[in-house]
Amino acid sequence: MMLRLLLLTLAIWIAVVLVRNALRRRQARQARPADRVTTVQCARCGVHLPVKLALQHVDGRHYCSPEHARDDG
Ligand SMILES: [Zn+2]
Repeated sequence: MMLRLLLLTLAIWIAVVLVRNALRRRQARQARPADRVTTVQCARCGVHLPVKLALQHVDGRHYCSPEHARDDG
């Protein structure tokens, strides 16, 4: 009887640990894309900025502002 209770407690503990690990792994996977921000360098002044904020020239170069895109173009 005592052994059965011990085995049951052990089984529940293992299940809890497995579920907790699975949840943690899923949270880590979901958080990753938000953490990673691709940055590019302005071809004119060399400042680094997120690619979403950069202006891309037709030849593929990135710029931090319309002025720099025009000056370097
Ligand atoms: Zn610039």
